[in-house]
Amino acid sequence: MKGSLKERGIRLTRQRQILLDLIDKSGRHLDAESLYEMARAKDPKLNRVTVYRTLKLLKEGGLVDELDLMHFGGDQHFYETRLKQEHAHVICLRCGKVEEFFGEPLQKLRRQVEDHFGFHIVLARTEIGGYCAHCQALRAREMTEAGAAETVAAAVDPHPAGGEILRRGPRNQAS
Ligand SMILES: [Zn+2]
Ligand SMILES: [Zn+2]
Repeated sequence: MKGSLKERGIRLTRQRQILLDLIDKSGRHLDAESLYEMARAKDPKLNRVTVYRTLKLLKEGGLVDELDLMHFGGDQHFYETRLKQEHAHVICLRCGKVEEFFGEPLQKLRRQVEDHFGFHIVLARTEIGGYCAHCQALRAREMTEAGAAETVAAAVDPHPAGGEILRRGPRNQAS
């Protein structure tokens, strides 16, 4: 683990401060391209290369975390400040909504892993993928609509989770 920017003698230049502020204040998980657009609105002189290089530096300096969020956005990475309390990311694989779960279970898991392996955890990232309540309803409807012959649809459904939802669907409950 490398030290903070300060310890490494890296000055918090104006561009670094701009990016750090954007990441810190957004409260969201922004990708590099969005951050570039936002940073440029503040300082038109900033170019893409500088922004990407600065993000890398902030990451290496331990000031921001880089997340892939289950690769929902393809190869994109997302950034958030390290100042936040540890949390898990709960990602909807359909609409891409990201929820943050804070709580004691995460600290408990951390302690259990440390005890079990005699391990000292420096960094932990928890990502959970699935479908939000809204998307579950949409998926259920899509699957019902997909077939007058829902048995055929269920047989060819490549996603096992889809079968679960189908079985819980209103039509099936009636039977
Ligand atoms: Zn969703
Ligand atoms: Zn987060």
